[in-house]
Amino acid sequence: MSGKAIAESQFGRAADLIGLESYMRRILTSPFREVQVEVPVRMDDGRIEVFTGYRIQHNGARGPCKGGIRYHPDADHDEVLGLATIMTWKTALMDLPFGGAKGGVTVDPRKLSRLELERLTRRFTQRIAIVLGPYRDIPAPDVNTNAQVMAWILDEYSSRQGYSPAVVTGKPVSLGGSLGRDEATGRGVMYVMMEYARDFGIPLKRSRVVIQGFGNVGGHLARLLTAEAEAAVIAVSDVHGGIVNPQGLDIPGLLAHAAQRRPVSEWPGGTAISNDDLWSITCDWLVPAALGGVITREKNAKSLDCKVVVEGANGPTTPTADRILEERGIPVIPDFLANAGGVTVSYYEWAQNLQQYRWTHQKVNDELRATITTAYAAVRDLARQKGVALRTAATAIALQRVAEAERLRGN
Ligand code: NAD
Repeated sequence: MSGKAIAESQFGRAADLIGLESYMRRILTSPFREVQVEVPVRMDDGRIEVFTGYRIQHNGARGPCKGGIRYHPDADHDEVLGLATIMTWKTALMDLPFGGAKGGVTVDPRKLSRLELERLTRRFTQRIAIVLGPYRDIPAPDVNTNAQVMAWILDEYSSRQGYSPAVVTGKPVSLGGSLGRDEATGRGVMYVMMEYARDFGIPLKRSRVVIQGFGNVGGHLARLLTAEAEAAVIAVSDVHGGIVNPQGLDIPGLLAHAAQRRPVSEWPGGTAISNDDLWSITCDWLVPAALGGVITREKNAKSLDCKVVVEGANGPTTPTADRILEERGIPVIPDFLANAGGVTVSYYEWAQNLQQYRWTHQKVNDELRATITTAYAAVRDLARQKGVALRTAATAIALQRVAEAERLRGN
């Protein structure tokens, strides 16, 4: 199922719940602006190769559009549109003064040299610069893009518009990035788990956590859960396979091992498992934090052995798998609540750039906790009140806020 189809399937239930008018459904299911560009890049051997890029602004009723840019061979119009839509719901649910956007270039960045990657980024930025800006649309890192790519975008944009650090977030700290941005998504996932743990009687202390993915989200989450919540992370995986230790993995040791670009399955402090084995481990919390579409009807939804699924990745559960989990009584904490810590701290980064004032790491964490906890509580309360899944409640709250902004603007 495409990202667009997934976003649409979530929309209907939530729109029905709040009785959304049909004209408003049309506004909120269609993008405000779509830009598709061809990006010619001089390769190291002198040839020119042309890549296709997208920037899709789904909705900007609540503020400038916000969302990442990904470089991936599968990045196409439908995927970027689906992700842009989810960004509209995510920023609205967190009550950030932003709309939703996403960008992508159809490219396998592993096949590019660093200089080719820089030239691609600069040319893509030139092509879409007309729709970017601190008060128009603010990109951020996503799959296969990072702080260095944001620094190139900042430099390219600023070369024409004057120094504009607020045009991108997820920048290096030395160029105006925020302290705490790196770990923000994992930290946000942990704060949501802490709240859920208290409400639903699954104490995090000594509880068993399984995490798919040991990158930015999964790695920071594993570290924070063991260091700050005394949870036992009993299994993690990466693209090559996984590792399990029922007593709890030594996460600092495993992080140091993974930092040397070695597969987690080669770590001596546990038993190596396959990526498929990960789904059958008995645990309290299962956190997919790698890819979309990994929990499916065909593969694992009927057999997962966990108390809660927490979506660290974007779109890890397909809509049919979601229904199976609901029937089995396994709650799913949805992506645009659980993993919203990144965009929330991106908002703080943007605000710091506009204020020309740096916040302390502690202030960033405190604000993040307050913001994501407030959003979680609103979702929990609506889900209880209406007897619906957390995902439906979260979408309904977001839709309500975006629709209200549209109405106030005269639509
Ligand atoms: P990352 O590239 O840093 O890490 C991804 C991890 O997943 C790596 O450990 C990789 O080896 C692993 N992986 C890849 N394919 C796998 C497979 N088939 N099986 C098991 N593991 C596999 O990416 P990230 O930034 O941690 O993002 C992970 C997910 O979280 C993505 O869906 C992303 O869109 C979402 N997300 C990230 C952020 C953020 O701030 N980084 C914010 C919101 C959502």
